[in-house]
Amino acid sequence: MSQTAPAAFTDSADITHFIAGERRAATSGRSQAVFNPATGQVARQLQLGSAADVDSAVAAAQAAFPAWADAPPLRRARVMFKFLELLNQHRDRLAAMITAEHGKVFTDAQGEVSRGIDVVEFACGVPQLLKGDFTEQVSTGIDNWTLRQPLGVVAGITPFNFPFMVPMWMAPIAIATGNAFILKPSERDPSPSLAIAELFQQAGLPDGIFQVVQGDKQVVDALLHHPDVRALSFVGSTPIAQYIYETGARHGKRVQALGGAKNHMVVMPDADIEQAVDALIGAAYGSAGERCMAISVAVLVGDVADRIVPRLAERAKALKIKNGMALDAEMGPIVTREARDRIEGAIAHGVEEGATLVVDGRGHRVEGLPDGFFTGGTLFDHVQPSMRLYKEEIFGPVLACVRVKDFGEALDLVNGHEFGNGVACFTSDGNVAREFARRVQVGMVGINVPIPVPMAWHGFGGWKKSLFGDMHAYGEEGVRFYTKQKSVMQRWPASIGKGAEFVMPTSR
Ligand code: NAD
Repeated sequence: MSQTAPAAFTDSADITHFIAGERRAATSGRSQAVFNPATGQVARQLQLGSAADVDSAVAAAQAAFPAWADAPPLRRARVMFKFLELLNQHRDRLAAMITAEHGKVFTDAQGEVSRGIDVVEFACGVPQLLKGDFTEQVSTGIDNWTLRQPLGVVAGITPFNFPFMVPMWMAPIAIATGNAFILKPSERDPSPSLAIAELFQQAGLPDGIFQVVQGDKQVVDALLHHPDVRALSFVGSTPIAQYIYETGARHGKRVQALGGAKNHMVVMPDADIEQAVDALIGAAYGSAGERCMAISVAVLVGDVADRIVPRLAERAKALKIKNGMALDAEMGPIVTREARDRIEGAIAHGVEEGATLVVDGRGHRVEGLPDGFFTGGTLFDHVQPSMRLYKEEIFGPVLACVRVKDFGEALDLVNGHEFGNGVACFTSDGNVAREFARRVQVGMVGINVPIPVPMAWHGFGGWKKSLFGDMHAYGEEGVRFYTKQKSVMQRWPASIGKGAEFVMPTSR
């Protein structure tokens, strides 16, 4: 039996593109530092791409696409199974790579890898997912069926906060359904993109079917304007999501663009307060609040505030904030110095607006890491809906408590917000839970579940300014997004009557 070489991926100091099956240097001559946020030191240099690099990747994708699209779905699924096996072998290395560039704690990064792998498992079922509909005898001697075919070259533009999981929301489904996929990862934590490319290659994926073009707005704009890019999936902040959606649509592309969030958690007076405290602390401060499903607003109904705020304060002050690789760390640093300063600026503004600062995380120092981009957990009470602190996404470990008198006011508050990504309601009353789930204007709802991220086969997406486009990421909507439906109607000469027909055909 032949011995296969141990699969591996390289972890190099210089981060390049991955085009046509190889690492390739950028042609722009521009580069940018990638930091380890825990130490504050430069860890790598990222080469930033240009429109010419996008042209090279699209040309390689165009060349590889016809044969891949023509491969039986089962053969494509087998590559995905092999990719899954390799990811499982390298889970912890991938997680450590995420922690080193993003800063989140290692166990949380392991969770990110697992949730990404879930989508790969879903994509392994692509033969079943692509099965079409068939109706025999729609009219005498005529059958009609539908099939779904790949779009061609498609691209994904991803945010810093899930450098492995969000690319996995897109690429496995795009590729399993027969497309050629180009990833433009975040500039902040680009290393996992190359690991993914190398593991896909080792899994037997033909060159050109998964490629990476590193870069910033220049690369994104080149993808938006390229006539051979058929569809774009975007995840990131709302202003950029809107720009991608509008520009992509103007250039005739299919676009799904997932944007920012301000997720509320309503706590009813009948909720289990201990459970609600645990949920709020984990969901507000986990991953330093840099999750699009983080809870940033606690909506405290009736007398809940007086019971819960002191406990939240105690827990927020006691958070174990360390280098994410420390085994007992609960929260790591913020991704960049600029993001940390922006978050601390938003806290200062909240104080100026008149909200009550219960716990101030600003200026937090971690022993032995004087240059790390740390901030502590911050808690505000008596936040008013008119404040910027309430309205704007801060994307950091800042929890704003809003006091309301009853369920109706809580629901109106949530429904009045411009974002509608995730929401939670903590209650022990089934009727309240049911009414909340039915009436709330938000895409993903948790009943006693603080972060209701749908599983791989359900699909992810918010409402309102949290999603531009009408199809959610992954799940069956992901399959629909990356394929186009064709309807075929067929009959054979023996069943064709003589003579031209001038009336609208109807079922006979
Ligand atoms: P971002 O919008 O700054 O960047 C996202 C991507 O867009 C990156 O690849 C970046 O290079 C690119 N980009 C940035 N500015 C651009 C410009 N002017 N023109 C073209 N492209 C540009 O977001 P981020 O800071 O990386 O991520 C955090 C944001 O993402 C938060 O708003 C968060 O809520 C959101 N997010 C949303 C979801 C969701 O599912 N709705 C998931 C994760 C993150």
